[in-house]
Amino acid sequence: MLKAAFPGSFDPPTLGHLNIILRAADIFDELTVVVAENRQKKYLFSSRERVSLLEELVRDRNNISVEVSDSLIVNFLQEKGIRILIRGVRGMEDFSYEFELSMMNKALDPHIETIFMTTDPEYFVLRSSSVKEVASFHGNISGMAPPSVVKALRDKYPSA
Ligand code: ADP
Repeated sequence: MLKAAFPGSFDPPTLGHLNIILRAADIFDELTVVVAENRQKKYLFSSRERVSLLEELVRDRNNISVEVSDSLIVNFLQEKGIRILIRGVRGMEDFSYEFELSMMNKALDPHIETIFMTTDPEYFVLRSSSVKEVASFHGNISGMAPPSVVKALRDKYPSA
């Protein structure tokens, strides 16, 4: 049984995240999407909202589950008996950050293997922060996030 975890803020989930989630779930027997709850970070969506947005997106995939974690990802993985960590990479900038992170995780637990999945080209400019920024100016975000997330963002930034 090959289990993997895909951690992130998902504040909110974008089409780029969903693309990695679905592709990873095609490779691994079980995929756990881990919603980070970091007290030092300010989120637009609460962890409960981020979980329910993700759950809605993967509702018809029975090998994908969504959980929240407020601990170090290596601790979460140890608790769940998962060794594989999936990270999405949009370009060199992501890669250098993700590479350092994977070295840190390896130092914390040598059994954890990080697997990088490159973004599909149509999503490579997508990041949650830019989707939120466009949404805050009531721009068209329909090509950036799934319809349920577009709706949730419209609710956060009602137009006057
Ligand atoms: P963001 O950078 O969008 O705020 P998160 O912290 O939620 O993202 O990221 C979780 C994971 O998803 C990270 O590994 C990140 O590199 C990856 N990711 C985010 N957006 C994309 C995308 N458009 N294509 C591929 N991977 C992505």
